[in-house]
Amino acid sequence: MNDPIVATPFTPSPDEDEREEIALLLFDNPAAKTECRPIDEEDFGSSILIEQGDQLKRAMRLLHGVGLAAPQVGLFKRLFVWQEDDGKATAIANPVLFFPALVEYRNDYEACLSVPGTKARVERAASVTLEGRELTGEPVSFRLRAMQARIVQHEVDHLDGTFFLDRAGPVARTLARAQIDKIKRRGLWRPLRVFV
Ligand SMILES: [Zn+2]
Repeated sequence: MNDPIVATPFTPSPDEDEREEIALLLFDNPAAKTECRPIDEEDFGSSILIEQGDQLKRAMRLLHGVGLAAPQVGLFKRLFVWQEDDGKATAIANPVLFFPALVEYRNDYEACLSVPGTKARVERAASVTLEGRELTGEPVSFRLRAMQARIVQHEVDHLDGTFFLDRAGPVARTLARAQIDKIKRRGLWRPLRVFV
């Protein structure tokens, strides 16, 4: 087995001429299982945190994703971005999910920018309330359903080092693993890279 690929360190690049290439952590890189630390109170509103959020949004758009969590780019903070239904990219820090008293589940396909070329069916709550902070520190709350609820559950999982494949049923997981092995045999198991 090859050595795990180490993600490029993620540092802010406010100057457009100094944009850097970042490599997303692959699912089987042990670092991708890191439990992320909360963002400290004094960091809210800082230019570094706001730029990191903007970089995540740019990376998500350039990679045609609908969500991207900070640990996927080697930044082990409780922060992610996702694309709302109207197309707006939103960043949230220190997110917490609240589930309805009677949870209704939906089973549907998910994919992940850290697991290129693979998808699997995963059961998720059909609706959730997402609470957290804007990067300026303002508290925010979203009531989300359907695809939006699914995306944020997937992203919060990343902050605890959990992948959608960890939540897939045994059959779906076996199929996905076989797909990954096939991609590896073809030499195509490579981290996605993007200039932010
Ligand atoms: Zn993902």
